[in-house]
Amino acid sequence: MKRLILFGAPGSGKGTMGDLIQRDFHLVKISTGDILRSAIQQDTAEGRRARAFMESGGLVPDKLVIELVRLRLSRGDLNGGYVMDGYPRTLAQAQALSLIASDSEKAVFIEVMEAEAVARLLSRLTCSDCGAIYNQLTKPPQKDGICDICRGRVVRRTDDTEEAVRQRFRVYAERTMPVIEYYGRKNVLARVDGGGAAAQVYLRIKGLIA
Ligand code: AMP
Repeated sequence: MKRLILFGAPGSGKGTMGDLIQRDFHLVKISTGDILRSAIQQDTAEGRRARAFMESGGLVPDKLVIELVRLRLSRGDLNGGYVMDGYPRTLAQAQALSLIASDSEKAVFIEVMEAEAVARLLSRLTCSDCGAIYNQLTKPPQKDGICDICRGRVVRRTDDTEEAVRQRFRVYAERTMPVIEYYGRKNVLARVDGGGAAAQVYLRIKGLIA
């Protein structure tokens, strides 16, 4: 396997699991959400186009996201393989991915009850510099508002509001569930119970991909 794709609803733990997998399996994590947030922070043309879509909980247009992924995959630093968090989210993105890079792949679908995922999102904190993920209740940063890893600013994401979260779930059901079914039909998809503490979920995932 060269490419591991993490699927799951918002708040299912894709980002957190991607970080752990990156650390232990020497795969490079590619998160389109992180790429887009950093484009917004740097005020690039792509960031300016993406911003309103993201803040409302909608999807950024395929053309823009596909181009960002194509650029990222062409950088030549992925020889050991990569783990994708948040891409592909539409069938057009999945088709583009197989054309850009026909790497051997596995996909993991992290399944979690919506109520648990929403509760996680509404208490989530994120480092605005390195993207590290915290939780107000279960995993606060050691120093209030400051990232343990890079000392960056730890904040609430602007799309972790009740309204944007509701829209993100709608979009997930309509646009991304068909992509997950498509990977199921390709016979490369494993399902994992994403409920409970991150360490437990990670053990289940490790068992699938080791
Ligand atoms: P995430 O960090 O994966 O939760 O993504 C945050 C937001 O970025 C999403 O709600 C979308 O607005 C946008 N986004 C991230 N990845 C994609 C993608 N593959 N396609 C379209 N929009 C995306």
